[in-house]
Amino acid sequence: MQKIDVVTVDGPAGAGKSVATRRLAERLGIEYLNTGAMYRAIALCALRENVALTDADALTRIARERRLESRSGRVFLDDEDVSDAVRSPKVSQSVKYPAGAPSVRAILVEKQREIGLSRPIATEGRDQGTVVFPDALCKFYLTASPKERARRRFGEYQRRGETVDFDELLRQIVERDRQDSEREIGPLKRPEDAVSIDSDGKTVEEVVAEMERIVREKRREAGF
Ligand code: C5P
Repeated sequence: MQKIDVVTVDGPAGAGKSVATRRLAERLGIEYLNTGAMYRAIALCALRENVALTDADALTRIARERRLESRSGRVFLDDEDVSDAVRSPKVSQSVKYPAGAPSVRAILVEKQREIGLSRPIATEGRDQGTVVFPDALCKFYLTASPKERARRRFGEYQRRGETVDFDELLRQIVERDRQDSEREIGPLKRPEDAVSIDSDGKTVEEVVAEMERIVREKRREAGF
């Protein structure tokens, strides 16, 4: 298979994919693509327009008709930068609907593929190495134990001055893992040819340095 100059980072929620992939892309001087933000943007649009989240046809229309773009690691919906708006708890609770709709996935996979074929990218999600870019030069599967992931989320909420129950966070993380892995189309799955990295007990810097070393070696071997 002819390889393309794409780095994929898949893994469960809270494993540190976003920050690691963004920094990796910066170090390599390539673009960062956050595919979770694309699913979130569809959910945001549906919420704003009072579209029933269970109406897959309506969600598909949004995915098809609205202009969804990624520029410099930010996601734009009809030219509005929605990167921060898509992080709201309400969107987080609603994103399982577009993510679970096969026809929405087909449209977003196509958009992601177009982006990856037009320029070198580091892309993060759940299905990047398995479904979207099976021909990616370099694939990672980034994990951390559910407890560690819940601890990180807990810290993020505390820094924002919000109070949350740790056990409830842990329960939500385990539940999201289940939803992500059991989805019929584009489930969370380790690509067979991915390098697994467990981020438990590692700093972001350590994780990124390990990834960068591997990518540079593979790119050199492939002549990119
Ligand atoms: O990574 P993030 O938490 O922002 O992803 C939001 C949601 O979008 C997740 O629940 C995940 O199931 C879904 N998703 C997906 N496929 C991707 C990226 C994210 O189904 N490639």
